[in-house]
Amino acid sequence: MVSLFQLFSIGIGPSSSHTVGPMRAARMFGTKLQEEIGLEKINTVHVDLYGSLAMTGIGHGTDKALLLGLEGEKPEEICPDTVDSRVSRIQNEQTLYLNGVHKIVFDPEFHLGFHKGKRLPYHSNALRFRAYDKVKNELANQLYYSVGGGFVVAHEHAKHSSSSDTVDLMPYPFSTCEELLVHCRDNGKMIYDIVMENEKALRTESQVRKGIFQIWQVMQDCVERGFHQEGVLPGGLDVKRRAPEMYSQLMQTADTNDPTEFMDWVSLFALSVNEENAAGGRVVTAPTNGAAGVIPAVLHYYLHFTPNPTDEGIIRFFLTATAFGILFKIGASISAAEMGCQGEIGVACSMAAAGLTAALGGTNEQIENAAEIGMEHNLGLTCDPIGGLVQIPCIERNTMGSVKAINASKLALRGDGTHRVSFDQVVQAMRQTGEDMKSTYKETSEAGLAANVPVSVPEC
Ligand code: SF4
Repeated sequence: MVSLFQLFSIGIGPSSSHTVGPMRAARMFGTKLQEEIGLEKINTVHVDLYGSLAMTGIGHGTDKALLLGLEGEKPEEICPDTVDSRVSRIQNEQTLYLNGVHKIVFDPEFHLGFHKGKRLPYHSNALRFRAYDKVKNELANQLYYSVGGGFVVAHEHAKHSSSSDTVDLMPYPFSTCEELLVHCRDNGKMIYDIVMENEKALRTESQVRKGIFQIWQVMQDCVERGFHQEGVLPGGLDVKRRAPEMYSQLMQTADTNDPTEFMDWVSLFALSVNEENAAGGRVVTAPTNGAAGVIPAVLHYYLHFTPNPTDEGIIRFFLTATAFGILFKIGASISAAEMGCQGEIGVACSMAAAGLTAALGGTNEQIENAAEIGMEHNLGLTCDPIGGLVQIPCIERNTMGSVKAINASKLALRGDGTHRVSFDQVVQAMRQTGEDMKSTYKETSEAGLAANVPVSVPEC
């Protein structure tokens, strides 16, 4: 089921596919053991990581996420400040508490296997969990895939994932933008009305609205926290946090007549979120962690730099952005391991452009146009993070995606909604581009910036 609350889920940094997804998979495995075998029979667990998870897992915090997921933690509930001390305790004692209650032998050096250069067929982000008893009998063996945005699919469900489950429950199912627009035309509704009706299959309208404002509050808290966190980001790249200095500069020159100053603020909002993400802080996947700054930055732009922002506008923004996030997930992918950065920053830019256009009162056609422009000019964007860390180019790239989303919305609002390239066509182009892209440019840190800026950061 792809719901707004799956695309926008509260978690921790730095990566939705490499941190949030693995934590969820580890917790799912612990629950499976508890329900099917009984925790008391388990002596140890072994986790094997493949593809992009093996290549960039350490830089993306996959190892830590797995340990805490095995201890039963959820990304949306864990306190980011406790992560390092808990991981140190597991490393020192070489034991962990499965599901938070049952002590097992676990030496991360030995029980986590990073199989660099090996990729399993279905998806690049594969994790295999195995559980053993005291005499080394294998009691369980489960393969999961972390398919982007914190979504996890068990191997046995992999062939039927995403759209098919959704269709059964939704009153207005859609898998293409054209289908979505037909629903709108046939029922005289806006895109955000259709998404709200679909969400109401799962919860009441007031729960949806309340949930959206909770997500929005976490985004605002994240921006605010990032304004005040000085220092260097973890991981060994020596990347200095820029948001605090920029914040203080902008506060001192707040009444400047520079008409482009809003761009500095938009960049600051995005930097603030993604520096928090890189530091393992509390963020909202939007729709991924690497691109978590774009949508909050554009929402802050809506709030501070457009005339008459309203709560209703915020609701419409989220609901509309959700429609396009779903369409990317169904028609292509939001996983950088499959699509490169066009699947992260490109998707976030497109979702933000659509959301902003809806919040500003655009027609359905203008909204579709904005979403299309937002992706069209991110086609081919590769994923090549230096040192496997979600820092360079990721943090700055969120500033670029945010400004581009605002421009896409402005372009669309200046037109009447007619345009040559449809959103569905751009999704198809994105998917084909992602499939043609070499795996070295898809979250493996083997090419591009990662290959041309030598660094020494921890090895997997
Ligand atoms: S380069 Fe883009 S896709 Fe890759 S980790 Fe950074 S933000 Fe994510």
